[in-house]
Amino acid sequence: MQLLKDRIKKDGIVMAGNVLKVDSFLNHQMDIGLFSEFGKEFKRRFADCEINKILTIEASGIGIACVIAQEFGVPVVFAKKTPSKNIAGEVYSSRVESFTKGKVYDAIVSKKFLGPDDKVLIIDDFLANGCALKGLIEIIDQAGATLCGAGIIIEKGFQDGGKLIRDMGVRLESLAIVESMDENSGVVFR
Ligand code: 5GP
Repeated sequence: MQLLKDRIKKDGIVMAGNVLKVDSFLNHQMDIGLFSEFGKEFKRRFADCEINKILTIEASGIGIACVIAQEFGVPVVFAKKTPSKNIAGEVYSSRVESFTKGKVYDAIVSKKFLGPDDKVLIIDDFLANGCALKGLIEIIDQAGATLCGAGIIIEKGFQDGGKLIRDMGVRLESLAIVESMDENSGVVFR
């Protein structure tokens, strides 16, 4: 998506440790007009799917998913991150390793909000090693729901997540795929 690539070029900051900072429009201050364009683009790419729910993970995914969900006219469920290990039987849960924070946590979703009738589109801001996405896919499996696909805003193509998820047979659509990035030459797209 050229609009997004241009914005990353203009405002993205390449940090140490393969982290791309896009705080000024995606992860802290949020450009809602841009998010609406994401919604239109995903609606176009997943036009052949009967999606009735969007699943994301807190925190950064929520705002993005909400604006995209408006385009689809469906509710958003977000997985909550919790350090607790003793989880009652009321939730689906999966273990996720955080790329940016280097911690392991449980992602949980109440059984009330996901079930066998759901046809789910996953939305997340970044795809790096694929742990967050894998965790959400596990939750969809536990619920017996149908996974229609995953929509990612920025995929870091030089990390393993994209291959891992595509090799699982998941329909993965990324709006911008970063081929390489460094502090001197900036961001190069695929
Ligand atoms: P993964 O689980 O695929 O390794 O990492 C995905 C999660 O880590 C995303 O939900 C996002 O919150 C965070 N993340 C991964 N890479 C980056 C990055 O370069 N910049 C930012 N801002 N977040 C990232």
